[in-house]
Amino acid sequence: MKLPSWISKEKVVLRDLHKIKSALREKSLHTVCEEAMCPNRGECFKKGTATFLLLGNICTRNCRFCSVPKGKPLPVDEKEPENIAKFVFENKIKYAVLTMVNRDDLPDGGAYHIKKTVEEIKKLNPSVKVEVLVGDFKGNLRDIDTVLEANIDVFNHNIEMVKRLFPKIRPKADYKTSLKILNYVFKNYSIPVKSGFMVGLGESKEEIIDLMKDLKANGVSILTIGQYLRPSMKNAEVKKYYTPEEFKEFEEIGLNLGFDFVFSSPFVRSSYMAEKVFEGLKK
Ligand code: SF4
Ligand code: SF4
Repeated sequence: MKLPSWISKEKVVLRDLHKIKSALREKSLHTVCEEAMCPNRGECFKKGTATFLLLGNICTRNCRFCSVPKGKPLPVDEKEPENIAKFVFENKIKYAVLTMVNRDDLPDGGAYHIKKTVEEIKKLNPSVKVEVLVGDFKGNLRDIDTVLEANIDVFNHNIEMVKRLFPKIRPKADYKTSLKILNYVFKNYSIPVKSGFMVGLGESKEEIIDLMKDLKANGVSILTIGQYLRPSMKNAEVKKYYTPEEFKEFEEIGLNLGFDFVFSSPFVRSSYMAEKVFEGLKK
């Protein structure tokens, strides 16, 4: 499908990426910005913002929209929490987003490693805010509790897409499990609960609205909506490019449903301008 004019704008400027990329390589760190070939890399890296991808860069799941390599992951890098904390310090990052590949091979899904990373960041950088964007831990609430033992500022778990598309596009994930996790954090912890999804995978407008209602009913207060962009020919194809006006309409629908904050536009990704979203919540 031909890219519409509002998408084809080249966003990634290579010279802006170089500095932060070298610093990441030095500490053997991964970012979802690079692994998922996020279209906002130029903008975010230039500002010194990055979303760390923890627990390696190989995922045990096989979502068809995602470009993160799939397969048997490497052993966990025990130095990663400390290295991320140092990177945050050295690069003066004020709002760190930590995300992860799914590690269904680990007994706790990697929950302790996430917790440890948040603790190391806060120990070295007490004023830094940390948002965690975690997987579903197969619905194991003890693992969610482990993550939330750390002093986290925003809990984020992306539902990614409408319910009907899960078996086809996310065969190893489950819509109800994602809602269960969001609901559990909302009911048991007093921190903002955030989620997000992509459009363009073949969903209808009614399905999008139903999804927004489900997220609202399960305690989500911050919502991100962005256009799915096919990272490679191996990934699911784009069924529709939504216009900026349609994204604006989703934002209005979301606000009318009662979300505190809806960030909806073609290039929005879960962590895009996350600090701004967090600041907006406090107003
Ligand atoms: Fe990609 Fe996350 Fe799916 Fe793994 S679980 S394939 S990282 S979207
Ligand atoms: Fe990275 Fe998120 Fe920015 Fe994309 S939007 S470049 S994933 S921080």
